[in-house]
Amino acid sequence: MVAMPMLARRGLSAVGFRPMTSEFLRSACPHDCPSCCALEVERIDARTIGKVRGNAANDYTAGVICAKVSAYKERQHHPDRLTHPMKRVGPKGTGAFERISWDEALDTVAENFKRAEAEYGPETVWPYHFAGTMGLVQRDSIFRLRHAFGFSRMEQTICTAAPDAGWKAGVGAMRGADPREIQESDLIVVWGGNPVSTQVNVMTHVAKARKARGAKLVVIDVYETPTASAADIFLKVRPGTDGALAVAILHVLFKEGLADRQYLAEYTDFPADLEAHLESRDPAWASEITGVPVEDILAFARLYGSTPKSFMRVGYGFTRSRNGPAAMHAVSCLPAATGSWRHKGGGALYTNRSIFGVDQSMVMALDRFDRSVRELDMCQIGRILARDEVALKGGPPVTAMLTQNVNPADVAPESNLVRDGLRRDDLFLCVHEQFMTETAKFADILLPATTFLECDDLYQGGGHIYLQVAKAILEPLGECRDNTAVINGIAKRLGTDHPAFSMSAWDLIDDALTRTGYPDAETLHAKGWENCVKPFEEMHFLNGFGHADGKFHFSPDWSAVGETHSDMPRLPDHMPAHDSSDKDHPFRMVTAPARRFLNTSFTEMPSSLKKERGPRAKIHPQVCAEMGLAEGDPIRVGNKRGAVTVTVEPFDELDLNTVVVESVWPGHHFPEGVGINALVSADRALPNGGGVFHDTAVWLAKP
Ligand code: SF4
Repeated sequence: MVAMPMLARRGLSAVGFRPMTSEFLRSACPHDCPSCCALEVERIDARTIGKVRGNAANDYTAGVICAKVSAYKERQHHPDRLTHPMKRVGPKGTGAFERISWDEALDTVAENFKRAEAEYGPETVWPYHFAGTMGLVQRDSIFRLRHAFGFSRMEQTICTAAPDAGWKAGVGAMRGADPREIQESDLIVVWGGNPVSTQVNVMTHVAKARKARGAKLVVIDVYETPTASAADIFLKVRPGTDGALAVAILHVLFKEGLADRQYLAEYTDFPADLEAHLESRDPAWASEITGVPVEDILAFARLYGSTPKSFMRVGYGFTRSRNGPAAMHAVSCLPAATGSWRHKGGGALYTNRSIFGVDQSMVMALDRFDRSVRELDMCQIGRILARDEVALKGGPPVTAMLTQNVNPADVAPESNLVRDGLRRDDLFLCVHEQFMTETAKFADILLPATTFLECDDLYQGGGHIYLQVAKAILEPLGECRDNTAVINGIAKRLGTDHPAFSMSAWDLIDDALTRTGYPDAETLHAKGWENCVKPFEEMHFLNGFGHADGKFHFSPDWSAVGETHSDMPRLPDHMPAHDSSDKDHPFRMVTAPARRFLNTSFTEMPSSLKKERGPRAKIHPQVCAEMGLAEGDPIRVGNKRGAVTVTVEPFDELDLNTVVVESVWPGHHFPEGVGINALVSADRALPNGGGVFHDTAVWLAKP
């Protein structure tokens, strides 16, 4: 029997190597971005794409996507894509490999997992993943492997744990207002986010509101981002102090009669001592902490409190701090105080993750889920590989790993520790990747991964309300395989009777959709997307917030949110629990996202590299003058965890003691061979963990 090319089996038109007339096919962006854009991809032939554009028929994407994905053909057809399985033939970390067959590669992985398990038990194996692809089948199939074999679980702390905790404390549910309502707002507040660089669609809707209604845009951030530059009002806060600003705004709202007392009584727990608590947290108090002038706090509070249709788009940035959840809770109190949730175009959105409710029980083999299996904090991979007993939670050492869609050698905190761990002789590491990342260089077995254009998947947009099915539109490059195939291939060699390991990605998509009550995969793909928005009353919590009492909680039960809750504030407050600067570390560093990268994805694209120009530190010109630094000079940034050399970029729109290093440049772009996250701590945000990427005290020194 002659094997049919995958695209022919999948019902897509022309396949093989024959040239064909190009056509635009529907897809969805898989990258780690709340927009999850509806895409149209020009397929020139079964192995080649041309343009990538936003789908204009989708009213969230509205035809607009970011520059990095518009240029996707550079990434898809990059000469450095991995194309065949390999085994390591040189020292770990050097990237010396030789080609092997898929059978040899998967046999080796299974043998090493079995060997490790025989010595230490199944928890010694740690499948590790994150958000290099956001598809619910390709990203999450690795859970199936963990659950079916009792391997160590992974606590997903790197991104959402901290903001989730703060939002959950007050609101109680992972949803918020439909972002398409932004265009009906009179005031849009972007707090701790930079959508011009990281979620361009938000700006599309802001532009509509500005044009149609003269809406104002307010941005609150630690430095003047491109979004802040586009704002009518920019409030520049010191890192880790957003909670103080939020509480001072609450003070003004209550003091000046701008709080909606009827709403507070009906929809919130409205603690009797809330106003007394706020009494001392006035703008002068907050100004000392945040650096925002008193008159600016007053002006913004009055504007916010007097604009019913005020939409707050709450970002992640300000929560990446030890006190981030407390700050998120304080910020979430603002629409609860003004009652802006009542209005279309009002309220707030952090994420709409919970509205989709996709049943992933087959994808993740949830019937084999065992809560007693230890769960290791992904941010603490360095400490875990260094055999730190607390990080290992008293269990066996990690001696075997599989990584998918993730590059911890650059992205995880305490990168020096991570790299030392990956270098361990007694650690077996299999990496499934698209490119030779810094982590891939440490692999014992390196497997080539498909891109989203070469596999099927199911996507939900945390920043909007659409569910999308995307089919592969290209044949896999070389011998690349998708995540599902790799997980199934390993599981079969380990020995399993679970039926999910015999299902293709398409089968699993279909199963998840129909199990949940959505149209089947083929129907949904043909339709384009499913609008999962809930009724207005539900998205705006007018029929109750997510807690059992249906109220918004100004006084949260932090014990229900996380284990380390004893120091959490009883009422919304600034919590000074961050990595404070001191005489040896006088600066606070923020590692903000760059426009043309997404973590380390896109760092291989020539157009992105050209625009981003290399690792740079934004430093206030006054500090530059005091240190005798000029634009382009090298500067060492460091603390007790490590030091790296970057290039000076004088920048006056940040606090004197703040340093901003945008992007996660791979380690090979630094003279030290390790990237900026070497300086970031793997400490956990309170009360439930979470990466503290913007909570780092550093020193600056001339090399
Ligand atoms: S804006 Fe986000 S979701 Fe849209 S194309 Fe760019 S990375 Fe993908």
